[in-house]
Amino acid sequence: MPTKRQPFMLGSHQIAPGSRTIVDIPFGKLYTHTELNIGAHVVHGRQHGPVLLITAALHGDEINGVEICRRLLKLPRLNRLKGTLIVVPIVNTYGFVQQSRYLPDRRDLNRSFPGSEKGSLGSRMAFQFTEQILKKCTHAIDLHTGAIHRANLPQVRASAKDKTALQMAESFNAPIIIKAASRDGTMRGTANNLGIPLLLYEAGEALRFDEQAIKIGVRGISNVLHELGMLPERKKVAKTDSLFSKKSSWVRAEHDGIARYYVGLGQTVQAGDTLAHIYSPYSDFEVAVTASFSGVVIGRNNLPLVNEGEALFHIAEVSSLNEAEKTLDAISDEVDNAMPQMQGDEYGVV
Ligand SMILES: [Zn+2]
Repeated sequence: MPTKRQPFMLGSHQIAPGSRTIVDIPFGKLYTHTELNIGAHVVHGRQHGPVLLITAALHGDEINGVEICRRLLKLPRLNRLKGTLIVVPIVNTYGFVQQSRYLPDRRDLNRSFPGSEKGSLGSRMAFQFTEQILKKCTHAIDLHTGAIHRANLPQVRASAKDKTALQMAESFNAPIIIKAASRDGTMRGTANNLGIPLLLYEAGEALRFDEQAIKIGVRGISNVLHELGMLPERKKVAKTDSLFSKKSSWVRAEHDGIARYYVGLGQTVQAGDTLAHIYSPYSDFEVAVTASFSGVVIGRNNLPLVNEGEALFHIAEVSSLNEAEKTLDAISDEVDNAMPQMQGDEYGVV
């Protein structure tokens, strides 16, 4: 006889099998005497299965993920969930209120992991988050966007050494998978050390909603839920595999000035192509910015005012530019077909 499914414990809360709730987990106090809480949605299925954590707004100004969480939680099929889904739409609540990437002490929460019990505010939050939430999970997806004035082509990043994370990346089916090691201080690095496969989704720009990035995110998480067996099997739909890239780097401004950009996200470029011009508003000086290698533009600075050394275009190497163009077009069409744009309807077929 299978063992009876136990309630899920989070903070001081017990969530019964077959129910969902919002749990406020206390994270300490600010000097204003304000309580610091992190709110987590918990959907605890009737049957056993993995515990998947979805996090957004670790950087408080990266808001696409917050909308992805909202649409995800409205999917009626979550009623048939196996295992447990924990969704934290706003991890950095203070940055979110301030519309800022950082914490009130100007630290970057996603450079403060794994943190410490007695450290700075960021370090304590990272520590509590790791202890109280991350360690309860078997898998995780962390939702990000580019930084302020920088947009990312929807992409997932996973460590090449982590087979489960790579499988999750493939089933997520974002336009491109970047194999990249995690940075020090990130939640992804801590998850890796704990043996919890974590997938990083990067899409769009800080403080903006990007409809395509949101749709790809909702569809991607839904795909991973199916892949992990947390949602029932479904009809196989033909889909185009994501592009893979093992190497990406930024083209930086070699001069300061005012920039005119000619290529956008998802465009392919050849080594030597002119990507932008930078000019001076007070002289005839003008210089071209060129691609140092061929690839797909997966990130771009949208602010035309640049200092020397500023990162302008993020280019990912791919095996074939021709194939890359076809893949990006096909995935974009598949996303639109799966999730038609209808006002008020966010629960398309994903
Ligand atoms: Zn971020």
